[in-house]
Amino acid sequence: MSKRSINYFKNSLVLTIAVTISTILATSVKALQVQVSPAKPRLGDTLTVVITPDNPTASSPPSVTINKKTYPTFLIAANKYRTFLPTTPLQKPGTRSLQIDAGAETKRMSVFVGDRKFPVQRIRLSPGKAGLEATPYELKRVAELKALKTPQKYWNGAFLKPNKGRISTIYGVRRYYNGKFAQDYYHRGVDYAGATGSPVIAPADGRIALVGRVSQGFRVHGNIIGIDHGHGVITTYLHLSRLNVQEGDVVKAGQVIGAVGSTGAVTGPHLHWGLYVQGESVDPTPWRDRKFN
Ligand SMILES: [Zn+2]
Repeated sequence: MSKRSINYFKNSLVLTIAVTISTILATSVKALQVQVSPAKPRLGDTLTVVITPDNPTASSPPSVTINKKTYPTFLIAANKYRTFLPTTPLQKPGTRSLQIDAGAETKRMSVFVGDRKFPVQRIRLSPGKAGLEATPYELKRVAELKALKTPQKYWNGAFLKPNKGRISTIYGVRRYYNGKFAQDYYHRGVDYAGATGSPVIAPADGRIALVGRVSQGFRVHGNIIGIDHGHGVITTYLHLSRLNVQEGDVVKAGQVIGAVGSTGAVTGPHLHWGLYVQGESVDPTPWRDRKFN
């Protein structure tokens, strides 16, 4: 070993010891444990934050603040709380700071969300041809649906495919209208090109929180079903030709809830499937690939 490499070895040893000591100190002084997954999230992913507070007798569940928004957490095991945080194509990639408040304990940490390139569509609208506008009633009902943060957790395991059709449009597609980039638009879900009348199933257990019909004013969404899976996780099914469930029904994974159609603002039959976490549309695909238990 040369003198230089011995020095390097000594220095790195000292550094390792210092880091170890500080880690021990940190864990013994602050026992509030926080785990964030996935390890390398990208825009559109759902962040899972699991919190184990130091004081199990804390009266209220911890909260998580990110991008100046504070989210509730839900009890998932003895003294273990969880929340899901949405990331979307409208956000900027990069580091965001997370603040976890659990009773008297506060923890700050940073999370890096990587970029993701979403496909781009160029749409040409003939002059004077404005798109169909949603009615105030449908906007109100859909907003109420997305705002649900039900403490009861209904689902278990990975989500099923809601329809057997091929995927015609993936999540997150951005658009230009007549050459102008639509800043607020992204495809808030996944489209399945199932034939009219083909069954739409509940991908996971939940409670039917919305059944809306064209006749009631669901002009853009068409006939729609909204499922509340609990813990701020909501799925939506748009443009249906048939509705097999009623509001308040509790459905099981795999149960037929309706059928593909072309109601509302569409150019052809398909199922638009949306998955909302804390009110924002995230990519449903990871929910099918792995278990968010
Ligand atoms: Zn769609």
